[in-house]
Amino acid sequence: MALLCLELTGKKIRENIQQVEKYRSSVDLVELRADCLAGEELFQIHKFPLMVSLPVILSIRREETGGSFNASEEERRKLFELGLTGNYAFVDFEAGFQVPSLKEKALNSGIKIIRSFYNLSGVERSALLSSEIPKFEVRSSSTADFLRFIEAVLSLKEEPSCSGRRIFVARGDYGFPSVVLAEKLGSFITYCSAEGRESAHGHSDPETLQEIYRFKNIKRETSLFGIIGNPVMHTRSPRIHNPAFKHLGIDAVYIPFQTDTLPEFMKLMDIMDIRGFSVTIPHKERIIEFLDSQSEAVSATGSCNTVVRRGKKLHGENYDVEGFLDPLKKRLGSERLKGMKATVIGAGGAARSVVFALVSSGVEVCIINRTKEKAEKLAKEFRCKYEGLDESGLDLARIYNNLVVQTTSVGMYPNVDGDPLPEYEFKRDQIVYDLIYIPEETNFLKRAKEAGCTVIGGGEMLLQQAYRQFSLFTGKQYPFNGSRD
Ligand code: NAP
Repeated sequence: MALLCLELTGKKIRENIQQVEKYRSSVDLVELRADCLAGEELFQIHKFPLMVSLPVILSIRREETGGSFNASEEERRKLFELGLTGNYAFVDFEAGFQVPSLKEKALNSGIKIIRSFYNLSGVERSALLSSEIPKFEVRSSSTADFLRFIEAVLSLKEEPSCSGRRIFVARGDYGFPSVVLAEKLGSFITYCSAEGRESAHGHSDPETLQEIYRFKNIKRETSLFGIIGNPVMHTRSPRIHNPAFKHLGIDAVYIPFQTDTLPEFMKLMDIMDIRGFSVTIPHKERIIEFLDSQSEAVSATGSCNTVVRRGKKLHGENYDVEGFLDPLKKRLGSERLKGMKATVIGAGGAARSVVFALVSSGVEVCIINRTKEKAEKLAKEFRCKYEGLDESGLDLARIYNNLVVQTTSVGMYPNVDGDPLPEYEFKRDQIVYDLIYIPEETNFLKRAKEAGCTVIGGGEMLLQQAYRQFSLFTGKQYPFNGSRD
């Protein structure tokens, strides 16, 4: 079972001890990144393992390998020498850091050596033949980078190794799946950091790994699902799907795949055997060219937010359509929607699904958008009225006024002060729906609520579409019946 290691990057020994205390019950071992310690603290590094009573890795990284140590090699050697007089379980030496006296000292003290390689070229296969534990660590800055990492890991994983152990780490948001899937990838250790620590970007904190991703339950045969997008690390979807897998006893995990290029993700999907995935900005349209079959909603909107593998074939669905309609139907019933007049603000990907959903439900729609040409294009497809996000748009919105649907990203975290139509005055009998779900209540919705309107936030739509995704992925109903997000 892969071990969970907390990387300690505090400037003070005391600070690091506090981190260990906070996460002690969630982690198996810790790594003291001595390169992050302030000068005077370095003299205590040999005492650290006894202070924390957990197995400890000692590392002193240089800037070139993602660390902060910038003194001479002689200084570094002396520090390692001091550290190795302490009760460390492991010491991490970079591939080029070959100092026989330190190696001997480590071995004589029963301290195991982790040998870190920072690229994945063929030369490193020889590392598997040494008695040291090879650690292959790269920074993944694109889907192509992460694909190369996974290909290399899968081939190295099959090679016999002398120590019987190896460590694989892909840093950065693109590499995040390697953190969660350490056991699946055959990595002896995975690394995490305290919440809010920037040094290990792309890592997660121990509690998120345990509680959301159930890191310790992931086995080699665990089924893999996820979400692709760029950016995607802020997604709430793992918090919706993973607890449901747990509740139903399904051996599966759902993780974010930061994705910039789809052809590379498709290869990743094949070699990692990803069974299904949600699709978010900016891939909802381009993903369609990779599908073998698609639902009517995908064909009608040109947008797909869910993909599932059926054998070797990919099938696409657009659950944004029904996910959007559910909260409206819950409040109004399908019949009352017919004949209503609605203004849709925005003409992007989400607006396509919203306009299709409303028009199919018999609603008369107008579209107003900052870029009027985009409003025009969408309006012509669905035979609606349109205008720009200006005085004429406001006039039109005053006529199409039973329902107002806000589909732009204006007001979304972190720019929460935004309001796409500040001059618009709400009337108390209107229904106002904002697709944004972070924050739960945008400024736009706040104004509508103050005017006495019925308001709907984007969180409800997010959940409704996720419930359908869950059923498509697992063949089972989402278990929490709308009571959890
Ligand atoms: P998109 O395709 O990028 O479209 C963005 C829309 O916002 C376009 O109409 C764009 O106008 C407009 N816009 C952006 N910045 C603007 C500004 N400063 N002033 C005025 N208009 C601006 O994105 P999307 O996929 O449609 O997503 C839009 C929002 O819906 C996001 O907040 C997303 O999180 C949310 N969403 C929620 C759910 C859910 O389940 N609740 C599902 C899907 C999407 P231009 O055409 O002029 O650029």
